[in-house]
Amino acid sequence: MNLIKMTKADQMNRPNLKFEKPHASNPASLLRSLTIIATISVLFIMTASTYGLYTVYARHIVAGAEDDAVDVSNALLNAHRNLLLSEENGRSVVRIDDNSVEALDRDLRKFLKPFSIIKIKIYSPQKEILYSTDRKIIGHMDGNNVRLGRALAGNNDSLLEKKEEVLDLADEKHFDVDVVETYVPIRDKLGKIIGSFEIYVDVTKYRNEHINVVVTSAIMLLLVISAVHVGALVVVRKLTGQLKKVHAELEQMAIKDELTGIFNRRHILSKANFKAISRQREGELTIGVLNMDVDYFKSVNDTYGHLVGDEVLKEISRRLTDSCRASDLAGRIGGEEFIVLLPDTAMTEIIAIAERIHRSVGEKPFHVEQHDLAVTISVGVACTLPGEKDLSQAIRRADTALYRAKNMGRNRIEIAET
Ligand code: GH3
Ligand code: MG
Ligand code: MG
Repeated sequence: MNLIKMTKADQMNRPNLKFEKPHASNPASLLRSLTIIATISVLFIMTASTYGLYTVYARHIVAGAEDDAVDVSNALLNAHRNLLLSEENGRSVVRIDDNSVEALDRDLRKFLKPFSIIKIKIYSPQKEILYSTDRKIIGHMDGNNVRLGRALAGNNDSLLEKKEEVLDLADEKHFDVDVVETYVPIRDKLGKIIGSFEIYVDVTKYRNEHINVVVTSAIMLLLVISAVHVGALVVVRKLTGQLKKVHAELEQMAIKDELTGIFNRRHILSKANFKAISRQREGELTIGVLNMDVDYFKSVNDTYGHLVGDEVLKEISRRLTDSCRASDLAGRIGGEEFIVLLPDTAMTEIIAIAERIHRSVGEKPFHVEQHDLAVTISVGVACTLPGEKDLSQAIRRADTALYRAKNMGRNRIEIAET
């Protein structure tokens, strides 16, 4: 009967109600977390890859336009060498005489007509505009032009820009145009840089293709990723379903007594505090405690064997729970010792339940393996008193009452003195 005492380990176990609340590690929240992670990763992958595709394809368009600009500038130099270049101290320089601008302009427009070129400029190494299809700006200096500076240092420099309005070589207005502006260095025979072209290539015709490529690729990618994710989620869902079952089984195993299926010692003593089992306010209803011990149980084992003893313990547990209310907690706390906690119950009701349990065990024999066994229990009854913070005192009083019941001849109920 001293088994009923709450050990230090029991008290430490008390708040350890691991399986009582939904926990972040349970299978349902695992599935929820995985779904959230999958959705976020799909969004992230889609955003990153769509941006990547857009950028790569834009670079591809710029690279194509730059190649066109380089080809056009080479062709221009070859076809109009006499109008563009002069010899000075035995070296070639870019020079366009005032009286040859008209002829150059006419020739260039004719020459560039088949290409998608909307504007062209020619710069001196000093960043002076020597020629432009926009004739007003000929002679202007473009000293702060960094990109021109890069071309004069020997590098092609291209940039994709959107223009609201441009005038083409036939002086026609175009609106909302995608233009690749490319600076191409002009070199003499020895490779020395003697000026730069600035060539505007109209790449608007690639815009739809650009959007189509990006959208189609993004949709394909979304379909593939979604299929993979949905497949993975179906598998995970199945696994979490199995995990849930195992989790529930483990949950039961952690709180139930293996032999009898009623609550085990650890669980029932973890419930032995007011808040866990009762919302009672001080001075109102009490919590009842019934401590029970099977009488002369050793002789059952000795006479009929341990397995019969086990069956008796199971049947006692069944009769115990059948005699309790849904809100009561019945548990096995030792070999043949049981406890019932009765929340929010007046003393008269506690005694009535104790009598019901006592009768349910003693009045009908236990039929096990063709034997009809007469089994009785002794019961100690106690209830909480105002001011008590947990059930330990009441359990102690019920234990003393049980001890008294044993001493007074067994098969009886004793009520704790308060
Ligand atoms: P009392 O009326 O004084 O309680 O006498 P008792 O024989 O019931 O008490 P005692 O403590 O001498 O013996 C309890 C017995 O319970 C001894 C032990 O073998 C038996 N027992 C404990 N756990 C189990 C169990 O799980 N299965 C079976 N079959 N017997 C058990
Ligand atoms: Mg005992
Ligand atoms: Mg006993």
